[in-house]
Amino acid sequence: MIIGIDDTDSRDGMCTTYLGAVLMDELQQYGTVIGDPLLIRLNPTIPYKTRGNASIAIQLDTDRPDAVMEHVTSRIESLAEMECEKTNPGVVFFNDTDHEHARVVLEEFFIRTVREVISIDTAKDIIHDLGIPAKGYKNGRGLIGALAACGAMIREGWDHTYEYLAYRQRTVWGTSRSVDEESVWKADLATYPGTWDTIDRTNDLIVCVPHSPDPVLFGIRGKSVEAVTLASNMILSEPIERYAIFRTDQGTDMHLISVERIADIQDMHSYTIEVRVCELPHTIRGGHTIVPVCDRDGRCIDCAAFEPTKNFRKLIRKLIPGDMIRVSGSVKEDTLNIEKIEIISLACAYDISNPTCPSCGKRMKSAGKDQGYRCRKCGMRSDTLQQSERIRNITPGIYEVPPCARRHLAKPLIRTHRPNEFPSR
Ligand code: ATP
Repeated sequence: MIIGIDDTDSRDGMCTTYLGAVLMDELQQYGTVIGDPLLIRLNPTIPYKTRGNASIAIQLDTDRPDAVMEHVTSRIESLAEMECEKTNPGVVFFNDTDHEHARVVLEEFFIRTVREVISIDTAKDIIHDLGIPAKGYKNGRGLIGALAACGAMIREGWDHTYEYLAYRQRTVWGTSRSVDEESVWKADLATYPGTWDTIDRTNDLIVCVPHSPDPVLFGIRGKSVEAVTLASNMILSEPIERYAIFRTDQGTDMHLISVERIADIQDMHSYTIEVRVCELPHTIRGGHTIVPVCDRDGRCIDCAAFEPTKNFRKLIRKLIPGDMIRVSGSVKEDTLNIEKIEIISLACAYDISNPTCPSCGKRMKSAGKDQGYRCRKCGMRSDTLQQSERIRNITPGIYEVPPCARRHLAKPLIRTHRPNEFPSR
């Protein structure tokens, strides 16, 4: 049986992954948990999300499916933040893992939910057509994520990473977290690049410890169970209640759709597209840097490096019209929020100055209105201004926002680290 769950938390507390960790332990009484539990990040532009648009799935080998369904639903009812208007839990129980048609539908639904906007009715129709036991609470929106997580468990061969999530003891939920910062820096030093986004060196920040009132104490992301476990074991902190290691689509760029034309871009989707910078970048109130770009049809869109991307904005401000770039990011309100940028080729930039004297090498001065330029020392004259190519101080290659601003789904460059990539640490 595959159990998919979503939308149990609110901004005031809880976390669907915590419910998953609790169930991982409690469901042992009904059978054997198979493989790793899944933590699936879905379309990052969805407005209904509490934080990171996560859902979870667990696979269980059991001969007591009814008891499992009863146990899971009763735990959702006791732990979910039902009073919150935005919390609309959903759970699905998929037993028919040999049913080829159902497998295909769910595998595809997983990818669509990461990339597209899905209606509650679409999820309900699939559940109905395939006869999947499910329960939606309130408006049932959580069924979308629950079904997608189930599809992720069925689908094979997708790129994945791991996250070790440590959970706080219940008595301290909502209070400030006690984590020894020095041990976090040491854990990063000992395990990077096998782990990433534990800290943000450039901005001198600890990234793995959240500040919201949910049960998570810290989360360590990395390429393997071993790497995230090693780092987590080095972190000194308040006592934890439990932990779970999830296989996840975080850090994979699964949300990105490649397009060639701006006309193919839709709001609330995420893209990679090659474009040409068509105006100088400008910085607006709030410190957000905007760079207008256009495609080969001449169609334009604004790309943004928002204030939280910190030092990344300095790179964007160096762009000039004519630069060819490939940008990746989510589109909301007709603006592409840059997660990653490849600087493909640089346009030539020129400085215009008074001519230099061919005899003594000194800079000539204006000889008066419409009278050209004259060297004060040797008297040489010239009519034309001098144009010299400016050094751009920017190297072609791939750059990314710093860890403190990274989207869960965005693939950190350190995962590939090719010669023309500049990982942000
Ligand atoms: P947390 O990360 O703290 O677990 P969250 O950010 O995952 O919280 P949810 O409370 O799960 O947020 O709310 C997201 C809601 O949006 C869920 O009901 C989910 O089913 C729904 N949803 C997810 N992906 C899509 C999508 N592509 N289209 C429409 N709805 C979606």
